[in-house]
Amino acid sequence: MAATSPIATAPEVPPARRLTDSHGRVIHDLRVSITDRCNYKCVYCRTGEMGPQYPELGIEEYLKLIKLFVKLGIEKVRLTGGEPLLRSGLIELIEELAKLRTISGEPLDLALTTNGHLLQKLAMPLKEAGLNRVTVSMDAVDAPTFERITRVPGSFEKVLAGIRAARDAGLTPLKINCVLLRGFNDSEIEGFARFAREEDVVVRFIEFMPLEEGRLWSPEIVVTLKEIVDRINREMPLVPVPARDPSETARRYTFPDGVGEIGIIAPVSQAFCGACSRVRLTSDGKIRTCLFSQIEHDLYGRMRAGEDQAALSDYIVGTVYGKEARHHIGEPGFLKPSRSMVHIGG
Ligand code: SAM
Repeated sequence: MAATSPIATAPEVPPARRLTDSHGRVIHDLRVSITDRCNYKCVYCRTGEMGPQYPELGIEEYLKLIKLFVKLGIEKVRLTGGEPLLRSGLIELIEELAKLRTISGEPLDLALTTNGHLLQKLAMPLKEAGLNRVTVSMDAVDAPTFERITRVPGSFEKVLAGIRAARDAGLTPLKINCVLLRGFNDSEIEGFARFAREEDVVVRFIEFMPLEEGRLWSPEIVVTLKEIVDRINREMPLVPVPARDPSETARRYTFPDGVGEIGIIAPVSQAFCGACSRVRLTSDGKIRTCLFSQIEHDLYGRMRAGEDQAALSDYIVGTVYGKEARHHIGEPGFLKPSRSMVHIGG
């Protein structure tokens, strides 16, 4: 038998692979939808006729898939849906995710996006399980307007209680996301600026994208970044806050006394695709490399078919490499994706 040198027998440690795409972007942010069920029927998101449309995986299966991504350089995981707080096993999933470490040995940045309806009771258990932050979607600070949008009576009080419970539990910085639509809730802009200051939360306005179940979107219904800034400036001057990192999606502002923060996310009027660091996993285990992707990549199907970890990792690396350069909202020939936001995972 040939003698083997210590060098030849040393275990080979492959260099850590990090997800990158063919446009040179490093992908370190994973959004996972854990259900496409939702207890709200927001008028700009749902038709009100469609229910859940896609299967959910077992909590163990999401965990296995997320682990593959984390080994490839994902540092931030955001759980979403549908409404993630409807999902049984959520707390256990967060407990397990909190045990994972990034390639560089750090805990994951764990966040969750919710409509806040069930948050009052769940805020503390979520925090104790290891969740770092929540983002609450809230499209009006006026109760009747809010309930006209969600189509759920009593929802405003529930969400407000949820926001306060999350802040008290330390799920901070607490962000409130508001999608503005002309003629629906654009009268709320100044009220939200006051809300940010009074409730000590970060309010972020998001431009409406063509991702609804119906056909509501038009360029005219989008309330743009410029318009929002102009409107708030008229009441209270805004002071720009420098970006913390290049992949930050929100333009941030505060007020002259430093109390309260406003962000504006403008995917339509000032797209930030060049700095995108995201990839998504749908509730049925498909990879989406862009909100506006026309194709999905069936990662879960491969796992079910028995592909091993190495093959699944290769599949993720190859899929992410092919991430789209940018979206084409508003351009001739733009095609809406077949899934709407609630079924992709917002
Ligand atoms: N149920 C959770 C919630 O309400 O945050 C998570 C899922 S929800 C689909 C995620 C976010 O997507 C919400 O803030 C919602 O307002 C936003 N959203 C839905 N449709 C949108 C659209 N067409 N354009 C922009 N944002 C949208």
